[in-house]
Amino acid sequence: TTATPAYKRILLKLSGEALMGDDAFGINRATIVRMVGEVVEITRMGVEVAVVIGGGNIFRGVAGGAEGMDRATADYMGMLATVMNALALADAMDKQGLTARVMSAISIEQVVEPYVRPKALQYLEEGKVVVFAAGTGNPFFTTDTAAALRGAEIGAELVLKATKVDGVYTADPHKDPTATRYATLSFDEAMVRNLGIMDATAFALCRDQKLPVKVFSIFKPGALKRVVMGLDEGTLVHA
Ligand code: UDP
Repeated sequence: TTATPAYKRILLKLSGEALMGDDAFGINRATIVRMVGEVVEITRMGVEVAVVIGGGNIFRGVAGGAEGMDRATADYMGMLATVMNALALADAMDKQGLTARVMSAISIEQVVEPYVRPKALQYLEEGKVVVFAAGTGNPFFTTDTAAALRGAEIGAELVLKATKVDGVYTADPHKDPTATRYATLSFDEAMVRNLGIMDATAFALCRDQKLPVKVFSIFKPGALKRVVMGLDEGTLVHA
């Protein structure tokens, strides 16, 4: 195709839930394969892709903490959960002809290589997909914050937050039929309207760095490609 991408380098944030498909927990292989197929499309356009993967399908520190576990310990478990997801994702990428490299924010070097910024940049320049695992490497943070952080570090032009809904709406579209999608929003508007696009830390980082965030549905076929082409898809949150 002659599709021209609007972005050269992007950071895609996939939640753990995105990997579950219709399952109640864990990793749904068919769902991953489908998602990777969408990523393949955009790499073919020459876009450099880095991914931050969540872990909520396996473990969430907040939930563990609520059940009486030490919060920091629970968060480390959550970070390890993201490593499992990263391995599954990278495996599916390799199977579909993409060269993927997993880099972890906490060192578990027998399993995946540690995150080293210049190396990540090199992989991206080589056209490899970099999957960032273990979030920020710190408890009390989220993978959304890791997405903002890594996005800023690698000079991504856009953070793509993949969700189940195809953008940010004026109300919950499942509950309110009059709800409409915002095509664009400023960080200030999103904050004033309390739209809860990302957690406060992630949001503040993107806002400070003027790193735009696109909220879109990863389950809508072709949506990822449309986002990368700069078309009206999802919601763009900008400075
Ligand atoms: N986590 C953490 N620090 C980070 C990123 C993640 O402690 O920098 C832990 C935290 O316990 C979180 C879990 O890992 O609940 C899974 O990440 P997250 O909830 O962001 O995953 P998602 O919602 O995207 O599936």
